[in-house]
Amino acid sequence: LEVTGAPIFSEEKRWKGVVLVFHDITELKHLEQMRKDFVANVSHELKTPITSIRGFSETLLDGAMKDEKMLEQFLHIILRESGRLQSLIQDLLELSKVEREDFNMNVEEIDVQRLLNDLLPIVKQHADKKQVQLSAFIEGVTIIQGDSSRLKQVFMNLLTNAINYSEENGKVGIHFQESKDYVTVSITDNGVGIPEEEVPRIFERFYRVDKARSRNSGGTGLGLAIVKHIVEAHHGTVRVESVIDKGTSFHVEIPKKFTEN
Ligand code: ADP
Repeated sequence: LEVTGAPIFSEEKRWKGVVLVFHDITELKHLEQMRKDFVANVSHELKTPITSIRGFSETLLDGAMKDEKMLEQFLHIILRESGRLQSLIQDLLELSKVEREDFNMNVEEIDVQRLLNDLLPIVKQHADKKQVQLSAFIEGVTIIQGDSSRLKQVFMNLLTNAINYSEENGKVGIHFQESKDYVTVSITDNGVGIPEEEVPRIFERFYRVDKARSRNSGGTGLGLAIVKHIVEAHHGTVRVESVIDKGTSFHVEIPKKFTEN
């Protein structure tokens, strides 16, 4: 609470009292703290790969590159870490766009099933690498209004997560449902699950339940924050159901008709 005060005087300059104004600055303080945390997080996330790239390059130049095995191993690390920087910067740029209330949506008529089917070959590659089985139940044609490249990104992020947070031989399913005014796409895995008390926080920027697992699988911690903003820009909702060690479902519901704000 912030308090400011001022005396008040009558016309004859006689003191009559004081006015006290109470400002509730909890919300402002909270926003300021979130901004500071965000800057600290970004700096930390950028620093880690850069330190690693510098360290391994220096070691190579100091003589390690004479050993061919080491040369190859270190170059792989440098490539991986610079890839991580690239994903982080891409996600940061995308997030800063979609966080703006007036961000530019490119709305057109989209065939949802086709959009999902277009993603399958890319997702399948990733699933095969992790030996995760992918099954899609997306028959038919349904036309909705939306930003197709942004919706692709939503489903891509959710599918990548479903695969990353699955164990080997896990199963990931994509289901499609429609009602008169809405379409719902559900992405279900039988992976590690999310503790109930952490579910409300996973859409926050850089919030991760298991930091090591997220980083090892190339996660930036920004995927779900981006998902939430894009779905909300379509006036839709994301619902999460999760049971620890049993699996997780994300249900994305989007109105068929797009309405401007
Ligand atoms: P990340 O890049 O870390 O995956 P996200 O924003 O996409 O970042 O997700 C935030 C966190 O939510 C993840 O770090 C993970 O802990 C949790 N999470 C997301 N999807 C799933 C899932 N399908 N199963 C289990 N945990 C998940």
